[in-house]
Amino acid sequence: MAEKRNNHGYPAGWAQVDPANVDHVLRYAVETFHPRLTLASSFGLEDVVLIHRLIAICPRAPIFALDTGRLPEATYECAERIGRRYDVDIEWYFPLTEDVEQLERTKGLYSFRESVENRKECCGLRKVEPLRRALTGHDAWITGQRRDQSVTRQALAVLERDEAHNGMWKFNPLANWSLDEVWSFVREHKIPYNQLHDQGYPSIGCAPCTRAVQPGEDERAGRWWWESPEHKECGLHR
Ligand code: SF4
Repeated sequence: MAEKRNNHGYPAGWAQVDPANVDHVLRYAVETFHPRLTLASSFGLEDVVLIHRLIAICPRAPIFALDTGRLPEATYECAERIGRRYDVDIEWYFPLTEDVEQLERTKGLYSFRESVENRKECCGLRKVEPLRRALTGHDAWITGQRRDQSVTRQALAVLERDEAHNGMWKFNPLANWSLDEVWSFVREHKIPYNQLHDQGYPSIGCAPCTRAVQPGEDERAGRWWWESPEHKECGLHR
């Protein structure tokens, strides 16, 4: 069935949604797109907040995660705790075996440290390609991005077109939240979270590409810390 739109090109009914209200946004997303809606989780603080809210609205909402093969142990432990707490089955996606074999045989295990191009190649096959498969068959997805995470996210909208994925809709319900607000919500609701957050990691990706940050540093300063800030996206959000 053709998707109905309002005069501004947004899906019908979006003009009545309060974009500052996470529950309004999630309810609208579910009512408009479920079951062709999915939530992307890397089990960061924002993701566990969204899982907590989304499951309250739609207990069988699809949730997926990308296992790059280089994730920290704490991320897997967090995923297990979340799965038990909310009784959800996470749809894990892996990179294509032949792609990883080819990369590691020809360039070694740490080629991503050598150049931005090599880093994007690794992110491309471990994250971007599996993401494309995870989103296939869906019309909209939900992410935990926030504007104040980095210079690359300051123009983030709560609802936007994802031109990198056939123009499907992308909801960023926490776009306006601060890190303090996210922590308050997690603590208030006793939501399981990645234990690396307690060790100075505000943003957590693959183990070899993530380090703790110093007080006052950008939240994503610990991601690919050898690169300049404007390069610090892995290609999942363009
Ligand atoms: S974050 Fe690092 S290890 Fe993970 S996919 Fe990107 S370059 Fe590869």
